[in-house]
Amino acid sequence: MNGINCGVPIYDFPVPNWNKGKKQTYAMNAEKIVIHNTYNSAKAKAEASYMVGNSSWTSFHTVVDESAIYECIPFNRNAWHCGATYGNRHYIGIEIARSTGNANDFAKAEENCAKYVAAILKARGWNVDRVVTHQYCSGKYCPHKTLDLGWQRFINIVKKYMGQTLVQVNTSVSRGGYSVMTKTPGDVLNVRMGPGVGYRKVSSYRDGSKIYVEEVVKNIEGTWYKIPRAGYVSARYCVGI
Ligand SMILES: [Zn+2]
Repeated sequence: MNGINCGVPIYDFPVPNWNKGKKQTYAMNAEKIVIHNTYNSAKAKAEASYMVGNSSWTSFHTVVDESAIYECIPFNRNAWHCGATYGNRHYIGIEIARSTGNANDFAKAEENCAKYVAAILKARGWNVDRVVTHQYCSGKYCPHKTLDLGWQRFINIVKKYMGQTLVQVNTSVSRGGYSVMTKTPGDVLNVRMGPGVGYRKVSSYRDGSKIYVEEVVKNIEGTWYKIPRAGYVSARYCVGI
């Protein structure tokens, strides 16, 4: 439904047309991701089935358990999940299921959610500061189990799947201050939000373009040039001038 690929099976479980006006009322330009726990031991598919078919306003975009992810509402529509008007109109709501059930199932569900969230962040060029709790939005103690176990711990799992821990350890950044020429015969050079192929493509340069290098970033994905107000390009496809 949202084009996310994170190594966990993702299934569409859309709201039926008759219920869309209530469950996903408005168009949305998402700004943050809100994490919830279901406060229930049911599996994700049962939660999805219940939400899309009932007549209450309460809804969410996605629900995750230990074996799968169910996407019910696309990220370009709103959902009613966080008890605050602004958040309900601008934030993606993700439920982690099984929060009152077996501890191992919940741990796996949280891990799957972290993989999914990391993939969303990378696809959008967002950092982990975009991930917040329901508690942040309205004060409700949710995601209760994730909070009990430690919010920063969950954020660290997300970071792990974004590759940030690894990148931080191995990254070096040095000043640029010079120009290079792109060399991609018959092709373009992609500009990305961050220094790696996992980051979203934001624009491109034609072969032979002269570009100014602000910073040089070296990480596990090689050497990347930071271009002012544009993004990052792989140094592999550039030559000195
Ligand atoms: Zn919640």
